[in-house]
Amino acid sequence: MSQNLDHKALLSLLERPQLRRLLEVFNGHGEETRIVGGAVRNALLGRPVTEVDCNTTMLPEAMVKRASAAGFKSVPTGIEHGTITVIVDGEPFEVTALRVDVETNGRQAVVHFGRDFVLDAKRRDFTINALSLGLDGQLYDYTDGAADLQARRVRFIGNAHARIREDYLRIMRFFRFHAEYAEGAPDAAGLAASGAERHGLAILSKERIRHELLRLLVARRAEETLQVLAGHGFLTWLLAGAAEFGRFGRMAASDRDRPVPIWRLAALAVMVEQDADRMRAHLRLSNDEHKKLAAYARLLAGLKTRVLPLDAIAIRRLVTEHGVETLSAVLAAVGGEPSPVVDRRAFEALERYRSGRDPVPVFPLRGADLVARGIPKGPRIGELLAKAYQAWLAEGCRTDEASAKDLLERMLAQV
Ligand code: ATP
Ligand code: MG
Repeated sequence: MSQNLDHKALLSLLERPQLRRLLEVFNGHGEETRIVGGAVRNALLGRPVTEVDCNTTMLPEAMVKRASAAGFKSVPTGIEHGTITVIVDGEPFEVTALRVDVETNGRQAVVHFGRDFVLDAKRRDFTINALSLGLDGQLYDYTDGAADLQARRVRFIGNAHARIREDYLRIMRFFRFHAEYAEGAPDAAGLAASGAERHGLAILSKERIRHELLRLLVARRAEETLQVLAGHGFLTWLLAGAAEFGRFGRMAASDRDRPVPIWRLAALAVMVEQDADRMRAHLRLSNDEHKKLAAYARLLAGLKTRVLPLDAIAIRRLVTEHGVETLSAVLAAVGGEPSPVVDRRAFEALERYRSGRDPVPVFPLRGADLVARGIPKGPRIGELLAKAYQAWLAEGCRTDEASAKDLLERMLAQV
């Protein structure tokens, strides 16, 4: 039945020495431990498995005891949720006690620990996320997850409306997992329920939304899925503003091997600097993320009003002033728009900086150079350096010693 699922890759999980060792120690004497969730799903899809989560009949105390008896280190990463991280020969595994939801409120459920793998599977979100694998190689599938995985379909476990009302974040997760794992259109029942329950997203914390949104933006079918989100009235709410699909599409085409969530967000949602500020508040972005969006917006504004085509010399200056990362992001997003006009040589030059073949020029003067020549410490130093920097940029960011010396002399002559 599951001819396009990779059962060999699934079983080869059990041959990973550290994982096998963990499962051997955590099975037996009346207890059972299995590999669950994303690792099983991804192995069956033949995708790389980087994180392995396990479920166990044991409670955290018993896990810690067994781990230490076997010489494994354990860290109580989420002990109140029943999770500890066990480190076997340097490799960490999250091991979680089986759980049952006893109370839900649209956000985070109150859980009890149990001993039933079926109940634990049924409280998970999607059928493809509820598979588990035993140490003996047995695949457990209580929700028809393998069939959905084979059909590349993301489907809620049970009634989609009810499952969303338990935790509205599942709407975001529905689109995120669809974008990453599904083929074709979103599951009709899931889509309809998500639309009908949309209002519930408002009770979630911004951090949880941000986490899922940023993951969605780098998923394989992000572009198509964002179109679905737009078509169902989600996107304006999620971004608190407009979306630029053209730029997002170009960004996604150019960074496919190494997508960076924040640049994808920039391409999609940042048109002016105010957008960066609004995104920070709306999604509780970190300072670093906000800085990147703001830098993107400033460079974008500069380039959109540029009349001259961008050539290799202009790239040298821009890379120096704005950094390779920001410049690459903006050019990926606006490349192909009527302005700025980007020369082929400009792209080649950018590629040389990106690959590190050409070093990004570093401004050669320091305050100390001016002090050494008798300029007293104080605000004047900063002013002179700023002037020198502008002159240096305009003259092509030369980094040889003679040019630096010449620049210093010219600045001193102005004092
Ligand atoms: P990824 O590789 O993207 O991390 P994952 O399957 O590990 O995929 P996580 O978001 O890390 O996804 O969640 C781990 C597992 O926990 C999921 O596979 C799912 O079974 C369950 N899960 C996580 N969040 C929820 C939720 N809000 N509601 C129900 N189940 C959830
Ligand atoms: Mg995970």
